[in-house]
Amino acid sequence: MRNRRILILGGTHEARDLAGVLLAAGFEVISSLAGVTEHPVLPEGTVRRGGFGGVEGLSDYLVAERIAAIADATHPFAAQMSGHAVQAARTAGIPCLRLERPPWVSGAGDRWICVSSVAEAVASVPARTRPMVTAGRKEIGLFLARADVAGLARMIELPDFGVPGNWTVLLQRGPFTLAGETALMTQYAISHLVTKNAGGDDTSAKLAAARGLGLPVIMIARPAKPPVPSFARACELAAHLGELLSP
Ligand code: NAP
Repeated sequence: MRNRRILILGGTHEARDLAGVLLAAGFEVISSLAGVTEHPVLPEGTVRRGGFGGVEGLSDYLVAERIAAIADATHPFAAQMSGHAVQAARTAGIPCLRLERPPWVSGAGDRWICVSSVAEAVASVPARTRPMVTAGRKEIGLFLARADVAGLARMIELPDFGVPGNWTVLLQRGPFTLAGETALMTQYAISHLVTKNAGGDDTSAKLAAARGLGLPVIMIARPAKPPVPSFARACELAAHLGELLSP
């Protein structure tokens, strides 16, 4: 029987779904989490936590653990991990596939201001406004440094530095509803929404809420990732892996 041991690079709900789909399809699965979230929602099956130590560390891990393929299901903004995955898979001589949700696209009624980086998004928020920023601990510090706005920052876990008095932090994990997002933006008299183009349904209600309230959305484009065979659905990736690793 051919080795069917898959390393899933996770940290997303798609990665958790993928672990279940691959296990059900008879693959052996190890899910890897970066270890940045203190209380992560865990996938089914074996889980490891923490960085690998760059491309070299990951290449060594792939060989030591006899990994047959990498399934990169990291967040669309986790560009470094995806880049390392491609390089390490090449070194180890195994396939690297990607599971990636499609990006959000603007439609009628949307007022998107598209920017290409977090720094550009920070600079795009006008002074004396009330932005709602949905970002992780990694990026939020840049926004919190803006002393000239009264902002609402929503994230999953508190940053490990102080929050200035002109910012309110809300700790919440999706999924969110249109009614809830509209009520939140109204309650805090939000003037702008700032978000990364994460894609997916769990957190898209904020876009519909902003549209309904006529608010501008500062939309941060995804970073580029090296091209590999990519799939929007776990079952498609599983089917492709099944073909690649058939006996
Ligand atoms: P990143 O910048 O692409 O990666 C930074 C380093 O973190 C990597 O070089 C690697 O360390 C380690 N790492 C990242 N993902 C890992 C994983 N799944 N397993 C083991 N190590 C991992 O990543 P990031 O943007 O900080 O995201 C960290 C994690 O949070 C990812 O797993 C991602 O799926 C999840 N996440 C990110 C976002 C976001 O907006 N960026 C949002 C939701 C969830 P070594 O070099 O030491 O191997």
